[in-house]
Amino acid sequence: MFRKVLVANRGEIALRVIRACRELGVATVAVHSEADAAAPHVRAADEAVCVGPPPSAQSYLLGDRIIAVARERGAEAIHPGYGFLSERAWFARAVREAGLVFIGPPAEAIEAMGSKTAARQLAVAAGVPVVPGTTESVGDAQEALALAEAYGFPVLLKAAAGGGGKGMRVVRDAGALEGALGAARREAQNAFGDDAVYIEKYIEGPRHVEVQVLADMHGTVLHLGERECSVQRRHQKMIEEAPSVAVDPALRARMGATAVAAARAAGYVNAGTCEFLLDRDGAYYFLEMNTRIQVEHPVTELVMGLDLVQWQLRIAAGERLPFAQEALVPHGWAMECRITSEDAVNGFLPSTGRVTHLRLPGGPGVRWDGGIEVGTDVGLYYDPMLAKLIVHAPSRPLAIARMRRALGELAVGGVETTRDFHLRVLAHPDFQSGAISIQWLEQHLEELTRPDAPPEVRRLAALAAVLAAQDGRPSGGGGASPPVMAGTGGGWAAAARRDGLRLP
Ligand code: ADP
Repeated sequence: MFRKVLVANRGEIALRVIRACRELGVATVAVHSEADAAAPHVRAADEAVCVGPPPSAQSYLLGDRIIAVARERGAEAIHPGYGFLSERAWFARAVREAGLVFIGPPAEAIEAMGSKTAARQLAVAAGVPVVPGTTESVGDAQEALALAEAYGFPVLLKAAAGGGGKGMRVVRDAGALEGALGAARREAQNAFGDDAVYIEKYIEGPRHVEVQVLADMHGTVLHLGERECSVQRRHQKMIEEAPSVAVDPALRARMGATAVAAARAAGYVNAGTCEFLLDRDGAYYFLEMNTRIQVEHPVTELVMGLDLVQWQLRIAAGERLPFAQEALVPHGWAMECRITSEDAVNGFLPSTGRVTHLRLPGGPGVRWDGGIEVGTDVGLYYDPMLAKLIVHAPSRPLAIARMRRALGELAVGGVETTRDFHLRVLAHPDFQSGAISIQWLEQHLEELTRPDAPPEVRRLAALAAVLAAQDGRPSGGGGASPPVMAGTGGGWAAAARRDGLRLP
């Protein structure tokens, strides 16, 4: 095993990697921007080095600077986390050329899966089913029209270099094609510096089901079952679970074998994820392979009972995977809610401010992977994801009940969060019965973002109102309010009093 690892990331994933290292007896070097000098990951690591000003282009994305820090501090390997430098083939190559180990796949595998069109070509060659569509980028609008008519509307325009849902446009009829093509190209050029766009058939009402893969350097490639990530807004995941209500053991085995075939075709090593669309008839289509640890990896860890980040380190250090595929069976049900600093009631507007209070959920089966603490300044420089709340329970209904209980315990003061939004989703009959698709959330956005408080929150608000009354202070708003109130704008307490709510 390595003696020292540099963690090239921030927030919850940097902490996650540092924790895995500590348990393996590996020392850690954190890097950080000037804005993050007091961040939790900086204090959690054994050493920390400031690499630049707040904008990530001048700090967390400075690959060469970060490699230099690793060498100066005697780190033997670099863990990139997700985002930032994690899927940049040039960085993986530069790390290797500096005589260090990149804790992730080889640069060549990142390249092979980096372009959506190249990944589709590779998948087709490996016999992996892909969404009907082109494997090359399209030329002019006329060519695009001919292709769209051949596949049949609706179609989806996608940036070849895409990611994060950018550069994607659904086109429902011929008249809208030319305008959408121009818009997708412009967005792709702005986001990725590459305006190549290709066409796929737009699948109506599918689920997003992805398969976790682990591959060692010695030719063993295993799959760890699926994650269901259909609760999405603007193609961004919000709630993930493992397993999926739509996948039985036979389908799990088939999708798993497909993911393993795709990973082998790319010469994959380390942890990776094959994303699929699963349609209503049980047919599935490869979308892309994410060549990194993913945000939602904990749900797989909980149902499989293993530590994926530690396995990333072990694989990078040359260890062999000791598991038999048949032994990798999910146990129970795990669910994750992404807690972001967004105001769901106001169109998911980013919310900024200082975290004034933080009450974390606990109890059986609850895991908090967070990157904030009281005093953390939540700004606009970085991703709005503050933390992930993850639960594990024997069954899906019990996991939902546990998540609702845990979200009810959570209180973040000083910034708006998506807590109440998650509570609404979890209370919805469609979610509870598992009748969801990737379009479900957008179709129900209005009822899921109502400004009144969910019952779990009203109970807390009632408690806060009582405490405030005992204190002889008005409840709600401001730093002087009790912890359970802050950050919810104070409106819930007023609502609770109006509703005549009493503590049980
Ligand atoms: P990105 O890399 O930008 O995240 P993906 O190809 O992974 O793009 O797609 C993101 C999301 O967009 C998917 O999870 C799914 O919700 C939706 N999507 C992608 N391709 C299709 C398709 N052909 N039909 C319908 N929805 C799609």
